[in-house]
Amino acid sequence: VLKLEPRIAPGILGGLYDYGNTAADSHKLTNAYSTASGATIREGNVTGLESTGGKVDRVMLADGEISCGQVVMAMGPWSRKAEAWLGVYIPVDPLKGEILRLELDSGPINYDISGGGASIYPKLDGLNWCGTTEDWKGFDRSLSEEIAKEIRRRLDRVFPELANAKLAKHTACLRPVTPDWLPVLGQAPGWENVYFATGAGKKGILLSPGIGKSVADLMTTGETTLSIKGYSPERFATQID
Ligand SMILES: Cc1cc2nc3c(=O)[nH]c(=O)nc-3n(C[C@H](O)[C@H](O)[C@H](O)COP(=O)(O)OP(=O)(O)OC[C@H]3O[C@@H](n4cnc5c(N)ncnc54)[C@H](O)[C@@H]3O)c2cc1C
Repeated sequence: VLKLEPRIAPGILGGLYDYGNTAADSHKLTNAYSTASGATIREGNVTGLESTGGKVDRVMLADGEISCGQVVMAMGPWSRKAEAWLGVYIPVDPLKGEILRLELDSGPINYDISGGGASIYPKLDGLNWCGTTEDWKGFDRSLSEEIAKEIRRRLDRVFPELANAKLAKHTACLRPVTPDWLPVLGQAPGWENVYFATGAGKKGILLSPGIGKSVADLMTTGETTLSIKGYSPERFATQID
């Protein structure tokens, strides 16, 4: 371990070396999907859906509306908001995660490091993203000094230099988590033209190509060769009265 990374804590007695892992910038990845598909992005705050029978005709925005032939509910941690619009149970809850982006003076780390309660991910921006935490705090996205201290305390056990490294950015974000930690993919029960693509929890970026492909398949052909049976919205059953 010391040969690979001499700055590792002296108390670390061994490690498992794995390779083939890589990193993506999720914002750029999303934009790349959009460009590749030829999509037009219309930003806005969705306030509801207008429907006729079991079919949604329009997505209502705070500042307008969009007519639609089909609609995908991909609202991440905020998915439950659509329960009232669709009358369908969508048990996706927000799991808060905080990350410290730290600068190292002594040069880049060449490996992701995970262990001893700490995760260290050297990223394309030259910073080391450290964390991450998991807290059920509703939609709270405030930055906690206590959590920051806890992350640094864990780093001290694994990579002491990072424990005191300069903070470039502290972030808090929400993961969309379901009761069985699996995504919700497929047609909304009772709706002809509504699909869910949500609940990917801690792995939504990694799973995004499969989520996008499978839901697009369902929308265009009614079936998919990808194995998504276990992710059906029906497993949470029941429509809300
Ligand atoms: C700290 C942390 C670390 C993570 N690390 C990884 C990782 O290493 N690998 C990985 O694969 N995943 C990781 N994840 C998880 C990943 O970020 C999520 O699974 C993924 O972002 C979920 O994508 P999504 O599109 O379903 O939801 P989101 O990315 O949350 O997108 C939902 C979008 O819907 C919009 N929205 C909601 N309601 C409305 C409305 N009414 N009107 C308009 N827009 C609305 C929101 O503004 C948001 O833009 C991590 C998450 C956290 C918090």
